[in-house]
Amino acid sequence: MTPDQLAPALAELDTHSLRRVRRVLDGPQGVRVTLDGTSYLSSYLSFSSNDYLGLANHPALAEAVRQAVANIGVGAGAAHLLTGHHRLHHTLENELAEFVGLPAALLFSTGYMASLGVLPALLDRHGEVFEDKLNHASLVDAAVLSRAKLTRYPHADMTLLEQRLASSTAKVKLIATDTVFSMDGDLAQLAELQALARRYDAWLYLDDAHGFGVLGKQGQGALALLDDRIDPRLIYLATLGKAAGVSGAFVAGSAELIEWLVNKARTYVFTTAQPPMLAAAVSASLRLIAAEGWRRAHLLALIDRLKAGLAGLPWPLMPSATPIQPLLVGSNAESMRLADALRAQGVLLPAIRPPTVPPGEARLRISLSAAHSLADVDALCAALKLLAQHA
Ligand SMILES: *Cc1c(COP(=O)(O)O)cnc(C)c1O
Repeated sequence: MTPDQLAPALAELDTHSLRRVRRVLDGPQGVRVTLDGTSYLSSYLSFSSNDYLGLANHPALAEAVRQAVANIGVGAGAAHLLTGHHRLHHTLENELAEFVGLPAALLFSTGYMASLGVLPALLDRHGEVFEDKLNHASLVDAAVLSRAKLTRYPHADMTLLEQRLASSTAKVKLIATDTVFSMDGDLAQLAELQALARRYDAWLYLDDAHGFGVLGKQGQGALALLDDRIDPRLIYLATLGKAAGVSGAFVAGSAELIEWLVNKARTYVFTTAQPPMLAAAVSASLRLIAAEGWRRAHLLALIDRLKAGLAGLPWPLMPSATPIQPLLVGSNAESMRLADALRAQGVLLPAIRPPTVPPGEARLRISLSAAHSLADVDALCAALKLLAQHA
């Protein structure tokens, strides 16, 4: 891409309804948001965040940050291996490890950075990474960065995965998967994946960005669905910017694995530690996640309400038992038209288009939050029904 190729390339994106634009959020994240606050219609009912438990704007998190800032100021000032590793980070790592039931945990600045650090720390060009076709982009990029051979299997196809594992001659193998697929909402087959990892002596890397806080009785995430989590080949990643409502990520696993990552994960070693005030916020969030089971129970009630309310529409809901409930539309232009029409009714729902999803599978990604009321879901269903009548 040269400088003079940019304008025509951007115009080309417009022709295919693929240009992305940002809208400016005024005020807090939540189920009612103010976007581009200077325009006429600026307040929306939103189904487009990953704030699944409604904690991003929770007063307990804000108070934890206020107290931390009063005591220690803002910046970490250094990488973890220099003087940036604060007591608040250290305490949070222990809390997170205990919460998910694994021996040790390590904080990263983002989930993207965590994966870019972990895979290259374990694999080189003699290794092989096996990934579900629908994995998040960060897992694909992490495999590319590691220089290992990247083998992608069709979504959820355990038979093909096993064939690929059986025919691999790589010394180090790693299976990487989303636990909850981010644009589909369905769950990976965790027990089968763990069995395959054992049979073929592979690492199992679970990206639980959308499961942590949401799945499991106390919100421990996808590991709550595994019978046996004391498994030295298990690597668990969760992000802290989604259900936890803050920012950052952590990797959990055996003590030796975490010790190795402290030494070898380049996105851990060569970057400034996150402001420790954010670790204080996550600690506060963790207490709410564990204690307030009503948030998860309410999410389930919202999911049921949505499924009942949208039955019979021309666009099917994709099969999902999680707060990610995509409505399959198909064409890019039609998904954009629907998103625009909903916005005109004051409802915010993102149109997800390629390359985020496969061509021909553009969708409206409904994302539910414990902060939604049943009436909010009813309003969404009514808005969509109105559009279906005029489709
Ligand atoms: C959001 C997301 C990430 C990236 O996490 P960040 O902390 O936002 O960088 C990784 N994996 C999946 C599946 C995600 O949805």
